[in-house]
Amino acid sequence: MKGISIGNRNRKWGEEVFSLLSWFDETKVRNASVMVVGAGALGNEVIKNLALFGIGNILIVDFDTVEHSNLCRSVLFRPEDAEGNAMKAEVAAKRISEINPYINVSYIAGDIGTDVGLGHIRKMDLVIGCLDSRLARYLINRSCFRANKTWIDGGIENLEGNVRIFTPGVNCYECSLNEADLEMLFYRTGCPDIAKINVVQGRIATTPISSSIIGAIQTQEALKFIHGFNENSEKFKCNTLNGKMLKYDGMYLTLKSYRLENYEEDCMSHEVWEPVVRGEGLSAGMTIAQALETLKGLLGCDDVTINLMNNKLIYQLVPESTDEEINVILPESKVSAYIEENNITKDPRERVFQRFYESIDADFPYPHLTLREIGIPYFDVLNITAGSEVQYVELSGDETH
Ligand SMILES: [Zn+2]
Repeated sequence: MKGISIGNRNRKWGEEVFSLLSWFDETKVRNASVMVVGAGALGNEVIKNLALFGIGNILIVDFDTVEHSNLCRSVLFRPEDAEGNAMKAEVAAKRISEINPYINVSYIAGDIGTDVGLGHIRKMDLVIGCLDSRLARYLINRSCFRANKTWIDGGIENLEGNVRIFTPGVNCYECSLNEADLEMLFYRTGCPDIAKINVVQGRIATTPISSSIIGAIQTQEALKFIHGFNENSEKFKCNTLNGKMLKYDGMYLTLKSYRLENYEEDCMSHEVWEPVVRGEGLSAGMTIAQALETLKGLLGCDDVTINLMNNKLIYQLVPESTDEEINVILPESKVSAYIEENNITKDPRERVFQRFYESIDADFPYPHLTLREIGIPYFDVLNITAGSEVQYVELSGDETH
């Protein structure tokens, strides 16, 4: 995570403007922390709106670079950003710091599934998803459950869009998917073809109009959430999209909301990781050997195992047609790209079997590797089996990383 410096100004942001709003609580807004995942057309609108309102702490996550095709839908990007292949997260962070120099803006130029530690999500009041892929939504949903945070999802296509709010204990994105959707998601790794389909699905027609409208509604819901307003509040009672979906159709000018309360008992994404032990001396930059020693001391237990809950560690690839055993050390998330780049298969539809570690303990043969090298992001929360108990330990040494 990288921070952008805050300017030193004498005037207060929005004075004589927001003070006119009876419901606006400047302290709550200034103290709020919001993560925006995805800095595309929709993300640009949400990030800009959050900055205009003076949300005090904004963390932007995006793994992509600015392209020319983004410029006609993204108020924060300029032609030189596309020419210089600048990272969307970094550019968006810089531009909103120019718009509002009074707020803390930081960014992670990385992927929500592999580069964003759960510790970052735990520090947020809420997360706003501005994404165009099912896989990314699934990953946010799972992380938000673990951190017990509400997330506001937005989606746009052509002149349409929708906003949904997912809250642990109320509803779940994964539970809202049908079986075919889920199959596509879980079959994604080891098969480059499916990985490509997941990416191509994202290339949909979008307009700067639908992103403005949907991004504005997402921001409005975020403000209600930050203020604690809902259907039951005594002061400023209002309707929210909590547990609901709002569908907007610009062509027919309709706006409809529906209840969205899918919540299956056996869904694997409903784990809330609490309580979390702070591991001040722990960092993803440590070797596995160092981390295991530190964990033993921290948890007062000699028998500790790190469970790889996000990213299995693949140590062998076996293409179906040849049965050749190819030794690798790769986090699961990097396997598809590795297979493609190294021409592991002749036919992109060929299956490649993967042999993997799901957990790491004192017997792990590569203790010199760092946690980062096996796919654990900075400031993550580790899922540890200590003796017979599961414990959650934050890599707190990475808090500002
Ligand atoms: Zn679920």
